[in-house]
Amino acid sequence: MAEPRVALVSGANRGIGLEVARLLTGQGMAVVLGARDARAGNEAAARIRRRRVNVRSYELDVTDPTSIEAASGRLEEEFGRLDVLVNNAGVYLEGDATTMDRGTADLSWRTNALGAWELAVATIPLMRRHGWGRIVNVSSEAGSLASMNSFMAAYNVSKAALNAVTRVLAADLRGSGILVNSVCPGWVATEMGGRGAPRSLEKGAASVLWAVDLPDDGPTGGFFRDGRPLKW
Ligand code: NAP
Repeated sequence: MAEPRVALVSGANRGIGLEVARLLTGQGMAVVLGARDARAGNEAAARIRRRRVNVRSYELDVTDPTSIEAASGRLEEEFGRLDVLVNNAGVYLEGDATTMDRGTADLSWRTNALGAWELAVATIPLMRRHGWGRIVNVSSEAGSLASMNSFMAAYNVSKAALNAVTRVLAADLRGSGILVNSVCPGWVATEMGGRGAPRSLEKGAASVLWAVDLPDDGPTGGFFRDGRPLKW
């Protein structure tokens, strides 16, 4: 029997990340939940563990290069491969453009863009090994330059940067079998989205899953919601 595919989802102890992880276990993948709080990660893994489901949690803070290195080292040791990376971890910090403070901008960039980029760089060798991979950067239409506004400015700028990361990775990986795309889950009812958000977790996660399930001749370097292109 072929080895199951292996997926890593960052920020998977709650919200959209946890739901994406749950859905990936349903596809028969071995799923690793990345969580910066080890206990929260283990509790989340226990919530979606069932018979014949291979799910575990790694401590993973995407702003910490040592943590990224440790997680990719564990993937190598425990699976020797990675097939799917969902860069989901994110922060949504207050502040408009003219009152921006350095700490907010710095944490937004390091979590939402640089962390995703570094995690991809650390794990791409594990995808290249078998010439197949899907990298899904969970972005937001708030990062679209076409409709950019100043509400939560650091978040918007960091998601625009994440979209740029998608473009450069996809350019480097063209023809490698590894597809890289940005997706917006829509406005989803999570801690970040708030209770009033119109979209369910299931719907938001499905928008992300679409980019995992792409066929080998599917798009790369794109920006989508529900499988439909969004403006950069
Ligand atoms: P959420 O409920 O606030 O969850 C965010 C997750 O990211 C949590 O697991 C959090 O961990 C984790 N995280 C934050 N900083 C981290 C770090 N340094 N290292 C590792 N994990 C970290 O948010 P969500 O709504 O599920 O959002 C998931 C993704 O969807 C985000 O990228 C977000 O920008 C995007 N998105 C959401 C919406 C929406 O309406 N909800 C809309 C557009 C895009 P802790 O529990 O430790 O804080």
